Amino acid sequence: MLSTMQDVPLTVTRILTHGMTIHGKSQVTTWTGEPEPHRRSFAEIGRRATQLANALRDELGVDGDQRVATLMWNNAEHVEAYLAIPSMGAVLHTLNLRLPAEQLVWIVGHADDKVVLVNGSLLPLLVPLLPHLPSIEHVVVSGPGDRSALAGIAPRVHEYEELLAGRPTTYDWPELDERRAAAMCYTSGTTGDPKGVVYSHRSIYLHSMQVNMSESMGLTDKDTTLVVVPQFHVNAWGLPHSTFMTGVNMLMPDRFLQPAPLADMIEQEKPTHAAAVPTIWQGLLAEVTAKPRDLTSMARVTIGGAACPPSLMEAYDKLGVRLCHAWGMTETSPLGTMANPPAGLTDEEEWPYRITQGRFPAGVEARLVGPGGEHLPWDGESAGELEVRGPWIAGAYYGGAGGEDLRPEDKFSEDGWLKTGDVGVISDDGFLTLTDRAKDVIKSGGEWISSVELENAIMAHPDVAEAAVVAVPDEKWGERPLATVVLKEGATADHAALRTFLAQSIAKWQLPERWTVIEAVPKTSVGKFDKKVIRKQYANGELDVTQL
Ligand code: ADP
Repeated sequence: MLSTMQDVPLTVTRILTHGMTIHGKSQVTTWTGEPEPHRRSFAEIGRRATQLANALRDELGVDGDQRVATLMWNNAEHVEAYLAIPSMGAVLHTLNLRLPAEQLVWIVGHADDKVVLVNGSLLPLLVPLLPHLPSIEHVVVSGPGDRSALAGIAPRVHEYEELLAGRPTTYDWPELDERRAAAMCYTSGTTGDPKGVVYSHRSIYLHSMQVNMSESMGLTDKDTTLVVVPQFHVNAWGLPHSTFMTGVNMLMPDRFLQPAPLADMIEQEKPTHAAAVPTIWQGLLAEVTAKPRDLTSMARVTIGGAACPPSLMEAYDKLGVRLCHAWGMTETSPLGTMANPPAGLTDEEEWPYRITQGRFPAGVEARLVGPGGEHLPWDGESAGELEVRGPWIAGAYYGGAGGEDLRPEDKFSEDGWLKTGDVGVISDDGFLTLTDRAKDVIKSGGEWISSVELENAIMAHPDVAEAAVVAVPDEKWGERPLATVVLKEGATADHAALRTFLAQSIAKWQLPERWTVIEAVPKTSVGKFDKKVIRKQYANGELDVTQL
C-alpha cells in the first residue's frame, strides 16, 4: 500500500522562501577590495531574487525551462541568481570563466542559453565571445567594470540594478515537479567535448540537507562560511543552497581569490568555516608563513576536488585550522564522502581516518569494481574503480536541445551506476581511500603504482613545494613513474636525496627512476594538477629528465 503522507515536492523555491523568512537576518558578505565589504541580509537577497524572477519573466521574456547562464564570481548577486532562476522554473547554467574560449562557446550553444548574467569585471572575457553566441538574446551586467565594450553588440544589454528597481517583491512561484531541471554544470572536458550534468530540484534539496548534516559540514546560523570554491564549479559544493536552509552566513571573495586578500578577509571577517581545493590552501599557507595572519576563527575547513596531501593537513593543524577531506565530482553534486572520523577516538587514532577521502553518507551507495568487472570486498586492500549511485548522482549527461540524454558506456554501468574513473580501496567501516584516477594509475609489470601515494610522500619532504607523478612508457615494465618536483625557494635537495627520502616510506619497486625539477605543476581550469600536459611535455622531450 502507499503511505498516508503528503507528497510535497522538494524544490529550490522552498529553500528560497524558507531562508528569506526564517533566516532573514543571516548575511551574505561580499569582499570589494575596500575596507568595508558589502553586506546583504538573507531577507533582502530573497526580495531581490524575487524581483529578478519578475524581471526575467516580464522584461526579458524568460519562459518555461529556458536556460539562464551566469558568468560571475562568488557574490551576493550570484546567490540571487541561484535562488531566482530555478524557483521560476528556468534552468540556472553556471559558466566556468576559466575555460578556454572555444569550450565556453560550445557549452553555451549546447545548453542553448538565452540570457547571460555577467559581472562587469568579466566583460572583457564575454564581449569577444558574443558574436559566436547566437542563442544569447540578453546580457545583464552587475557590479563594477568598464561597460564601453558593450556599445553596438547584438544582444540587448541591461543593468542588473536598473532591471530590479521597482519590480514587485512577490511572485506567483509555479508548483514545480521536483524531478525537473533546476541547474546545470558542464564537466571541464579534459577528454572530448564537455558533458552537461543537469541537477533537479529534488537532487539539490536532498544534497543541501546532506551538506548540513553534522557528519558532513554540519554548519548552523552561528557559523560563517568562506566560500572560496567558485559558484561556477559544481554549485560551490552546494553551499549557496544549503546555507539558505539553515541560515549559515556566507563570506564571498568575489574576484579577490589571491592568497593575500584571502588572508586579509579571514583575519577581518573571522569566518568559522571555509571550502576550497588544495591549491588555494597551499597558496594561503605560503602567504601566512611569509606574513603571519590570525586564521584561528576558521576552525574547520572542507578541502576536496583533488587529493589533500597529509603534510598540508599537518601544517594547518599547527595553525589551529582543521582540514576535513572530502571527495566529489560534478556528477555527484558534488558531495560524495567526507572524512569526519568515527566517535570516541584520540587525536592519534583519528589521523588514519582524516587522511582518507572519507565516509559515504546514506545517500551515496558505493561499490568497487575490479578490472574483470568483478565486485571487490571492502577490506581496505582490494583496489578497484569506484562506482556510485544515489538521489544526487547523475544517471546521464544532457544530450542538447531535442537530443536524447547520453549514457556513455565508460561513464555508466549497465545497471545505471556512475563509473567515477577513480581508483581506490574502501575499509570495512566505509572509508574511501583513493589511490588514483583510472587514467593516471601507473601499470608497472602487471602491478599498479599509485601516483597519489608517491606525490604525498614526495611532498612530505621539507624542500618540496609541489610534486606530480605521471606514468611514462617503459620498455621493460610497460609503464614507470616519472616524478616532477617543484622545489621551495632556495631549496637544494637533489633527485638522489629525494629518492633516498622516499625509500623510507615507499616499497623499492615503486620508487621512480625518472626525476625532473620544474617551475610549476601545470593546472586545470579549476586548479587541479593537469597530468595530461606533463605526459605530453615528456613525450615531446620538453622535460629535462634525470634517470637514477
Ligand atoms: P573534472 O573531472 O573536470 O576535474 P570534477 O571537478 O568533477 O571535474 O572532478 C572530479 C574528480 O576530482 C574526481 O573524479 C576525482 O578524480 C577528483 N577528486 C575530487 N575530490 C578528490 C579528493 N578528495 N581526493 C582525490 N581526488 C579527488
